[in-house]
Amino acid sequence: MALLGESICPYCGVGCRLRVEGSANDIARIRGVESAAANLGRICAKGAQLGPTVRVADRATHPLLRRSRKHAFNRSSWDESLNFVATEFRRIIQHHGPNSVAFYGSGQLDSETAYLACKLFKGFLGANNTDSNSRLCMAASVAGYRSSLGSDGPPTCYEDIDYADAVLIIGSNLAEAHPVTFDRLRNSKKERPEQQIIVVDPRRTATCAIADLHIPIAPGADIAFLNAVARLVIQNGRADEHFIGFHTKGFIDYVAFLMAQPLDDLIERTGVPRLLVERAAQIIGKSKAFLSFYCMGMNQSTVGMWKNNSLINLHLLTGQIGKVGAGPFSLTGQPNAMGGRECGLLCHQLPGYRFVEDEQHLLELERFWNRPLGSIGAKNGLSAVEMFDALDRGTLKAIWIAATNPMVSLPDLHAVRRGLEKAELVVVSDAYHPTETTRVADVVLPAASWGEKDCTSTNSERMVTRSPKMWDPPGEALPDWRILCRFAQHMGIGESFQYGSGSEVWDEFVRLTKGRPCDMAGITSSRLNDGASLQWPCPDQHHYGTKRRYLDRKFPTADGKAVFLARDHRDPFEPTDDDFPFVLTTGRIYAHWHTLTRTAKAEKLVARDPAPYVEIAFEDADRLEIADGDSVRIATRRGEIVLPARREVGMRPGTLFVPFHWGDLFAEGNALNYLTVPAFGPVEKQPELKFCAASVVKATPEEHSTRRSLDLVETA
Ligand code: SF4
Repeated sequence: MALLGESICPYCGVGCRLRVEGSANDIARIRGVESAAANLGRICAKGAQLGPTVRVADRATHPLLRRSRKHAFNRSSWDESLNFVATEFRRIIQHHGPNSVAFYGSGQLDSETAYLACKLFKGFLGANNTDSNSRLCMAASVAGYRSSLGSDGPPTCYEDIDYADAVLIIGSNLAEAHPVTFDRLRNSKKERPEQQIIVVDPRRTATCAIADLHIPIAPGADIAFLNAVARLVIQNGRADEHFIGFHTKGFIDYVAFLMAQPLDDLIERTGVPRLLVERAAQIIGKSKAFLSFYCMGMNQSTVGMWKNNSLINLHLLTGQIGKVGAGPFSLTGQPNAMGGRECGLLCHQLPGYRFVEDEQHLLELERFWNRPLGSIGAKNGLSAVEMFDALDRGTLKAIWIAATNPMVSLPDLHAVRRGLEKAELVVVSDAYHPTETTRVADVVLPAASWGEKDCTSTNSERMVTRSPKMWDPPGEALPDWRILCRFAQHMGIGESFQYGSGSEVWDEFVRLTKGRPCDMAGITSSRLNDGASLQWPCPDQHHYGTKRRYLDRKFPTADGKAVFLARDHRDPFEPTDDDFPFVLTTGRIYAHWHTLTRTAKAEKLVARDPAPYVEIAFEDADRLEIADGDSVRIATRRGEIVLPARREVGMRPGTLFVPFHWGDLFAEGNALNYLTVPAFGPVEKQPELKFCAASVVKATPEEHSTRRSLDLVETA
């Protein structure tokens, strides 16, 4: 069978390396690459089923323009469409200033594109409103690592699974969201049954199948749980005094803070029996190598950064960081969420883990990009949710959305729609059309997708890999970074965006990381093009990369010490009440990826998970006389949707769970995120997608079928 190439999977942040065989029109087989550290030959169904997503009818193949959103799209040329976009951007910037335009990207974008988006919008247009959908999944981890350890970026690697004797999985359904990492952990548990696995989740998810201890915590009570465990670890005499004394600061205040909180109160808040919390503290306290995995359950919260700090406190308390088999491991949701962070694709960042509000960093970038002093704005731009709110309020006028589908993924979709409808200009570059978001665009620009471009990405364990182009993109679709370069030409700044290849873009970017915590100076294009995968820090061309950070116990803070940060429980933004007595929580399921633009094309995946549903606790369903499959109406303060119910024995009573993948293309007006709350944390600005107050009642079958009626008139 002909080998097309080896490429990183375009779905989750595990970053599996795939061996692709067949032809572009007929991908015959996709297997895992045995030698790849991320997957050791394994893949999940999503990776295996990429073939059917490649040559599909709804690929965006040509630029599309329309006179107004009441009109249909017309096929356009690259020059005509980009000239139109550039003219509008210039007009809007001239009248309203650079902060009236925005770029909203994605962890799906490769690093070349993320870097150039940052350079173009922040460096040359003066628009710090340059954010990405990583804001929805990773921003709290970024802020947590930085405030506790001095730098973003996980200290750990997948291999730590094989050495850890205790693994805490908190706020992550690893089995469905990161299946290959789960598989490795399951194998490890099989080979070493003494390895202790604790799962903290209000739902008894598939991940619990390998758990020694499942803690069905009350939604939103993670900080109380982590503080209770920390207190018990101290009480049990299990704090690592040597590590604390030499490598941390803030311990005395932290202990005083913990001891001031009655243990009974903390445990009561967790909503689980004391015995479970005590058992978790024993396992963690006795562990020789304690590894934690966490994801959206920790991050999608108005106190997401604080949750991250509380977990890192536990690692500092036990000295379980900077050693083999140990450390806090934030799992990235998307294939290049890490790369976006490295390249500065969040509104407070600049490339190389630099920050907009750091004067020295601004100077370094202005010098590097040959920009006059003061060209880059000194204030953070708008984050994801803020952008769409600003569109609604009219302070933001134009937005370029790339490789993401906010009309499904953002909270409070009614508000998102309002914002997009009020915008003077909506440009969407995407590999697919229609999506829920291209339907409200003025311009659709066709982007090359997986397999159709050379591109670089960083997975959850800081492993950088280049995926080669394996076939041509359809029609006139172009790699996103080339689209941005062509746009720059139309904006009259093309001389700073002249690159012959993605390798040139990459090599420029890594020069900017020299000496930074995410030093990738040694990860050159020539090494990547030779097939190397390297973990940063990798400071020079002879360096083999770094599996684990902080082995020298020196942290990138001013004095080299990690910081204990005392973080108290805070109630979620929208607590339950008599009118909305349920907690509505959301998440991913095994067969699907984000907003279905790809996975809905793979028959086998759709057969496994064909439609959305709501999980409801058995006890609640009994009380409300809801049978399996009954249509139920779920309402929050923002709207209501109708879904079939699934009664779940392992669900925490008072909790509803809905997967977030299905948008308006599946059933108009019936997407989960019409219900969710747009509140976000003050520093991390990550929305609280995991918690809002809801009600649920039985609906009529007619109500259900009305909700399912497709309405694609606007896409004509
Ligand atoms: Fe690997 Fe994630 Fe792709 Fe599955 S979806 S093959 S776990 S990268």
